[in-house]
Amino acid sequence: MAHGISSTRTDRAVTIRELLASGKRSYSFEFMAPKTPKGERTLWNAIRRIEAVGPTFVSVTYGAGGSSRDGTVRATERIATETTLTPVAHLTAVNHSVADLRNIIGQYAGAGIRNMLALRGDPPGDPMGEWVRHPRGVSYAYELVELIKESGDFCVGVAAYPEMHPRSTDWDTDVRHFVDKCRAGADYAITQMFFYPEDYLRLRDRVAAAGCDTPIIPEIMPVTNVRQIERFAELSNATFPPELAKRILAVKDDPAAVRSVGIEYATELSATLMAEDIPGLHFITLNHSTATLEIYENLGLHARH
Ligand code: FAD
Repeated sequence: MAHGISSTRTDRAVTIRELLASGKRSYSFEFMAPKTPKGERTLWNAIRRIEAVGPTFVSVTYGAGGSSRDGTVRATERIATETTLTPVAHLTAVNHSVADLRNIIGQYAGAGIRNMLALRGDPPGDPMGEWVRHPRGVSYAYELVELIKESGDFCVGVAAYPEMHPRSTDWDTDVRHFVDKCRAGADYAITQMFFYPEDYLRLRDRVAAAGCDTPIIPEIMPVTNVRQIERFAELSNATFPPELAKRILAVKDDPAAVRSVGIEYATELSATLMAEDIPGLHFITLNHSTATLEIYENLGLHARH
């Protein structure tokens, strides 16, 4: 593996910025902090299987409304100290004072973690509810980027939205705010999930036209069961392709067939993107490794990486 044991307390951990600058494509996987001992076992099974294919990095999400603070910090620290993986810690501004944020950043630094994804987060409960800034906190992700950058030599990623952020009213403003995050010091971005390659390519071109060359890594989420058709649209605001919904519903009583359709679609989407000049792919695992590893294999990445 190119990066070896990357994040021990004594070694200087490699950053995603350095990995992307090396010109190689980045292939990464996203996990969620576990909430129960059973969830913890499922997560670690998935992590160990994914570790075996030597991804560029893995990331751990921060629960909605800042809810998984301890679980996220614990899981990310454990990845840094007990595996050969490079972890990226998500951090959200919601419900945290600047002092809380500095404290969490310090805990990550103490575990040798130098890679973070800076997010504003959504209000707890209704993600489109009123955003209320913590009285001693920050309002936008760009401020969190600044805070992390001034706290040490961290590599910071941010979020990008191929279908525009749901709170944005027009593309020009959305892209301007994205570019502000990059100017604040973001080293790279990861997109929200999406289902049409054109949405990603249009965003990339809009950002380039605004004079910003921050690498934007597309996020891939395979649909593996019928319930996800509604759930994904709800969670991400991504337009779910009616033709994909039709293909899934046609085999809805056969879970294995539903899964195959989802994996095939995600493989085709990834392959179309790989034919373009993309910096890499970021796969959402939902803490199960098999679907994403199948896509990885279908793309011929297992052998190459
Ligand atoms: P911002 O960049 O701050 O943008 C939020 C809105 O404010 C946008 O409409 C933007 O245009 C606008 N805006 C930005 N700057 C300004 C300004 N100066 N003035 C006026 N308006 C402005 N959520 C979690 O809770 N935990 C996670 O782990 C998590 N991981 C994610 C990972 C990825 C790859 C992505 C794409 C999203 C993730 N999210 C996560 C969801 C994210 O927190 C929400 O989408 C949130 O609504 C926006 O976060 P942001 O960092 O993009 O915010």
